[in-house]
Formats: sequence, structure tokens, C-alpha cells
Amino acid sequence: MIYFDNSATTKPIPEVIETVCNSLSSDTLFGNPGSLHELGTIVTKEYNNQFKAIASVLHCYENELYFTSCATESANTAILGYITRHKREGNIIISTRTEHKATLETLKKAEEFGFIIKFVDVDRNGKPKLDMLEELISDEVILMCFTHVNNETGSILPLDEIVNIRNKKNRKIAIYLDMVQSVGKLAIDLKKMNIEMGSFSGHKIHSVKGTGLLYVKAGVSINPYILGGGQQNNMRSGTQSLVLAEAFRVALEEAYKHFDESHETVHEINKFLREELVKREAVILSPDDALDYVLNVSFKGFESETMLHCLEKYGIYVSTISACSSKTKKVSYVLLDMGIDRKTAGNSIRLSFSRFNTMEEAKTFIASVDEIYKLFAL
Ligand code: PLP
Repeated sequence: MIYFDNSATTKPIPEVIETVCNSLSSDTLFGNPGSLHELGTIVTKEYNNQFKAIASVLHCYENELYFTSCATESANTAILGYITRHKREGNIIISTRTEHKATLETLKKAEEFGFIIKFVDVDRNGKPKLDMLEELISDEVILMCFTHVNNETGSILPLDEIVNIRNKKNRKIAIYLDMVQSVGKLAIDLKKMNIEMGSFSGHKIHSVKGTGLLYVKAGVSINPYILGGGQQNNMRSGTQSLVLAEAFRVALEEAYKHFDESHETVHEINKFLREELVKREAVILSPDDALDYVLNVSFKGFESETMLHCLEKYGIYVSTISACSSKTKKVSYVLLDMGIDRKTAGNSIRLSFSRFNTMEEAKTFIASVDEIYKLFAL
């Protein structure tokens, strides 16, 4: 099997599995951190240790982090929690149309609450047009929502420029940043990034599903989204899961431990595939300066789903955003918004890599594409 779909999800690494198994089979670590007896104290201590370790990797304070079930929950909590808390300060939110649905659907909900969403256009490289952003900023804007690395194209957000524009035009605006595809693949230094909120997801970095993280900068107040027993400083109620927190922490530490070698491997794979695919008249849709972990490519004469299923026959797993339903063809809104024509976008597939992919796999991928072209030429 060749798994080139790591932006969708990743396989848990042995270090995570071992930690999970040890934790689950422990005679003490199953306790409820809220219990007043000794088991509660043991688990609370261990649970807090996870925050400490994660905060040291992400360069923030432990009390700025909250465990959630996934990045979608983190996005919902950050956006709705912030705007409901700060509604008297303004009613405009700025974002792009190329955000993940976790953000876009939450923004739709914000509209129902009376907020106005203003979208900044993106350019051919998927980056927000900064002059337009500057024009959109006014005293009424309270929040801006962006994605650090786009999940479909690997396009990297010009975060520093955006922060500078915010600081120049209206310092009071909060920034929410989706870091789902950047964590473990770009250096994350929350103290230096000048954002107010952010989301992370463990299953994209070889942890298990069910492990999300929310960052809320100290001093920024938001309303909680999940209400109940007041766990996690009243911000995210529900009995804390030590084992999931450990699974996230281990995956994160491992990702940064292997950061450099991982970049080298994935860069080599991406470079090779770009060169070979262009020779075969495929169109590379990821920008030249995209993160190497994502490669969006359009195959001439092959609709996305056809290519996906052909590759599947060779044991190669990739992703398609475009899909044919019985009547209409769904095409990636991200690619369309970047100005890519419907046909090219409709033929696109996303390859996404991890540190466990190899050059051998990349070569097999190209050989399989050649065979598929030959079969269809007959
Ligand atoms: N944001 C981005 C950029 C993503 O790629 C994803 C998942 O595909 C999400 C948010 C949602 O993450 P989760 O599956 O943890 O809810």
C-alpha cells in the first residue's frame, strides 16, 4: 500500500500506540481527574504534565491550552466563543472562502447570530489579497479567521504580513488561526505569532482520532462552547481523557523530533513528483512555494474520481475534493476561488505526504500513472 493521503488522516505511530496501551492498562491512570481521592490526584498530575510538555513544544503557557475532541470542535469554540463574548465591540468577521468547512460552517452560524462575514479574495497561489484585506478592516471588525496551511493545496498563509496589517489598522481585532495542516510541519511559536486563538488536530500528526487542541492566548476571553461540570477551567466541560491527551503529546513531540529529516524526505518526494508529473502534461495546482507535504495536481483527460479509483487498483491512496454525484459534478471551492478553471479543478487530486513515505513509493506512483495512461490510450 502507498498512502499519499496524510492530510486526510495519518496512521498512529508505534510510540503513540505504546503510550495508549500502557495508559489504558494501568491500574491507576483510569481515574477521574475530578475525584477527590488519590486516583484523582494521580491522574490530574499526569494530565497537567501533558499540558506542560505540549506548551513547551508550541511555545506558549500551559493555561492557554485546552484539549478538545478535534479541530472542528476547537474552531467552533474559538469562533463562536469569541464573537458571542465580544459582540458589543463590533459585528464584522473577516475570512476567506478557502477556509476548511470547520470554519466556513461556523461562520454561517455566526451570520445567524447577526454577524456580517466579509471575505477577502485569494490570488492564484491561494493567498489572501493583502490590499483587499487592508480595505476591509474597519472599527467594526472583531475577528479574522485564516488557515496557516491550506489542506487542499499546501498554500502557506503570509501570517506576518496579516498581523502587521491588523496591528496597523485595528489592533483590537483577534486572529483565529487553523493550524491543523501546519503543526509538526512548520515551526509553531505561539508567543511570537501574535494570534489570539488557534486549533490543532492530533490525527493529522500520527496520533489517534479524538485528539484536538484549542489555543486561547492569556488575557483573551471567550465563552465556553461545551457546558457542564466546569472542567478545564470552565472552558471545556466533560471528564478529561488522560489517554487522549497523552496520545496528542507523544505525536507532537515525535513530529518535532523528526522535523528536519521529515522535511528532507518529503521535499525530495515532492520535487521528484512535480518534475515527473509535468513531463506527463499534468498541471500542478499547488503554488511553487507551497508546503511540500501537499501536492495538488490535475491530470488531463481524467476526472478526479476516475484517477483516484485507478490509483486505488495499484494500492495507492490519494484524495479528491471534486466528486461526481448522479446529477452534478462537485468541484473544489478552494481551487475555483483561486481562479482555476472548472475543468482543470474537476480533474485534480491531492497527494499528501508524511515522514514515512519514501522515494521508492514516489517512483512506483509515477510508474502506475504511466500504466494508467497506457490502459486508457488503448
Ligand atoms: N482544518 C483543516 C485545515 C483540516 O484539514 C481539517 C481536517 O481535514 C480540519 C480543520 C478539521 O479537523 P478535525 O478532523 O480534527 O476536526
